[in-house]
Amino acid sequence: MCLFCKIVNGDVPAKVVLSNDHVLAFHDVNPVAPTHVLVIPKEHIASLHDVTAAHAAVLGELLLAGQKVAEQLALGTTGYRLVMNTGKDAGQSVFHVHLHVLGGRPMAWPPG
Ligand code: 5GP
Ligand code: ZN
Repeated sequence: MCLFCKIVNGDVPAKVVLSNDHVLAFHDVNPVAPTHVLVIPKEHIASLHDVTAAHAAVLGELLLAGQKVAEQLALGTTGYRLVMNTGKDAGQSVFHVHLHVLGGRPMAWPPG
């Protein structure tokens, strides 16, 4: 079972921000911004590149949860960035789809 499935199961602890039937949001263990939360589907999907049209609803749930997390953690007015690293060149290190919610400082563009 993958690391994030273990977090969903409760086998690995996490600081949960939001949970519903479809998605779980928790603080990243190694934050790269003052606020850094990961939003994951409760169903195991390895990467964005593995989704099909059947996953459209859960992808929508991820974005909606990202917005709710940002509102909950007071990023609504200052802004935030949602990132989904996909595959080797993007630096994906955990192969269970996750949306990074980053905020609390200005973000550079283009990303590194
Ligand atoms: P990726 O590099 O795949 O886009 O992002 C994976 C993220 O998962 C990284 O930001 C990393 O810090 C985070 N991470 C890795 N292991 C754990 C863990 O056990 N708990 C939590 N909360 N985050 C983790
Ligand atoms: Zn998984």
